[in-house]
Amino acid sequence: MAKARKVVIVIFDGLRPDMIAGRMPTLDAFLSENLWLRNARSVFPSVTRVCTTSLATGAWPGRHGIVNNQFHLNSDLRGPLVDTGRVDRLLQLLERTGEIVSTDSLGQRLAAEGRSMMAIHCGSAGSGLLINHAVRENGQRTFSVHGAGATLTPEIVPGILATCGPLPSQDVPKFDVVAYAGRVANEVALAKEQADVTLVWLPEPDTSFHFCGIHSERTDQVMSAADAVFAEILDTVRKGPYASQTAVIALSDHGQIATSALVDLVQLLRTDGFRADEMPNDDTEILVTGGNMGELRPLANDFGLVRDLGQWLMQRDEIGMVFADPEMVPGAFSPAAVHQVHARSADLLYVMRSHEIPGPGGIPGIGVFTGGVPLGGGMHGGLNRFEMNTVLGIAAPDGRRQESDDTPASLIDIAPTVLGLLGTTFRCDGRFLPVFEPESEHAEIEIMHESHGTFQQRLVRSRIAGREYLIEGGRA
Ligand SMILES: [Zn+2]
Repeated sequence: MAKARKVVIVIFDGLRPDMIAGRMPTLDAFLSENLWLRNARSVFPSVTRVCTTSLATGAWPGRHGIVNNQFHLNSDLRGPLVDTGRVDRLLQLLERTGEIVSTDSLGQRLAAEGRSMMAIHCGSAGSGLLINHAVRENGQRTFSVHGAGATLTPEIVPGILATCGPLPSQDVPKFDVVAYAGRVANEVALAKEQADVTLVWLPEPDTSFHFCGIHSERTDQVMSAADAVFAEILDTVRKGPYASQTAVIALSDHGQIATSALVDLVQLLRTDGFRADEMPNDDTEILVTGGNMGELRPLANDFGLVRDLGQWLMQRDEIGMVFADPEMVPGAFSPAAVHQVHARSADLLYVMRSHEIPGPGGIPGIGVFTGGVPLGGGMHGGLNRFEMNTVLGIAAPDGRRQESDDTPASLIDIAPTVLGLLGTTFRCDGRFLPVFEPESEHAEIEIMHESHGTFQQRLVRSRIAGREYLIEGGRA
């Protein structure tokens, strides 16, 4: 098997594999012509900054420590919310806890071997930091589409503006951002001094799924625009000096489902006598985060309160899953079952109820949510199959072609696979994916059930090579 000299990674934020056909012809052809890992999955929670960090570190959230998009620190619950979308809040996290991320990253491992990496990031500024959190020490490059104030390597921004023009508008759908990312990739990153690993993070279709809906003409148009940028990147690689020595990986970080009902969970908790709020005030005993899933963190160490909250969640029709220490909350799954054991993890996590039935436009997957996007928009974070199933295609020199493989795969496998393609290894939670030949070992499916009273939940995992991959979960 040939070693790759260069790896190019293109990420389509939020893209569902079942929505590619008919909308994204270049990506569709790429997946058919190369290796398509059809059973690829996100991590839990299936939200972007948690996904980004799992991709960047090869670790589950319980090891890398970015446990949610937004979370309260157990060690300082009355302190500021850790909003991982913001660079200042991540740098503050470094001051408060001594680290942003608890494990080594792909960027650090590459740097240790004298290899370079360039990321072109179009998501939130925080996400751009998390894709290579030690980029400055590594001597590598991260360009954020939000400009010099949103990257740890601002010195590269003026040169990019000179070549590609002023920063794009953030109008939704993000046609301008997608096109600009393509220019930076083709005219800068792949044009000269190409890094050993080039990563392009496109913000679509995630943003349009959220705000225009999963089933929408505008969303389809921006998916087509993202596909066109992918076609240009493939073309640049094909015409470039490393064409036969480049591996290309196309993937998404999670899917989305349509929102069918909005629930004010904080208000429901308060109505039933729990002093819940999103931020602490004099009257608060429980901190709550929301979306398609969220956390409940009692301000004081109170086992009785955790038990009561757990039982309250299980009595609600809107709740799909509950994670807590089962000794404390009978019927809950242990957070360890979804790799959520970190000093920053919440004692109690919930997932809103969702279904696999058709939603708008006949696209399957709908669920209840607590806010963050307009009702009817798409959302993600939970363990619904259509949130968890991700895109993952690999074209490698001497790699498998015209094959699809149902072996479990997840975002944790990207970093070790990138390093494996470059001829080296990376000790992390993930594994090198079967790029050159199918694995001899078959995955073992594990279906777990827990219940309490009328509440029943299930979690499906898949085991291979000593690892436990999350497949899907929900209310049974
Ligand atoms: Zn995302």
